[in-house]
Amino acid sequence: MRGLVRLMRATGRVAEPAPQRPEGLQGANAAFGGSVGVRHVDAGSCNGCEIEVAATFGPVYDAERYGAKLVASARHADVVLITGVVTRNMLEPLRRTVDATPNPRVVLAVGDCARSCGVFAGGVGVAGAAHDAVDVDLAVPGCPPEPDVIVEALRRVTLR
Ligand code: SF4
Repeated sequence: MRGLVRLMRATGRVAEPAPQRPEGLQGANAAFGGSVGVRHVDAGSCNGCEIEVAATFGPVYDAERYGAKLVASARHADVVLITGVVTRNMLEPLRRTVDATPNPRVVLAVGDCARSCGVFAGGVGVAGAAHDAVDVDLAVPGCPPEPDVIVEALRRVTLR
């Protein structure tokens, strides 16, 4: 145990160095004051984007140091983060989740599927992209997008 503590002390912080703060999303600064709760909704992804979202909030990319924190309920959220194409079965739950998120809120579509249906365009169970289901404020490209790009999008909302 003592050896482990010594190793942790010697290792120090492993998070990526903070890049320059990106330009803020219009209206986000006054609305959120630098801190947001993020409700993640997988609307029908392949799970590739989920792995990157998990890494975004992990110890290396550590989105929490910029004021973004995952929350379990839409009622506690300021940001709805959508991954995946919107499947027919997730269309209504996604709309309800966004409706349940208090205003002001930001809807963030993460990955090519959420942005434009990506590789699942035209699929039999596909209802559309995120913007076909709900109003989207910000979209992050990539299949999947890398964690630092997701962190940058969240920082545009937290402005930290
Ligand atoms: S954008 Fe790529 S990684 Fe993300 S859900 Fe679609 S296919 Fe999977």
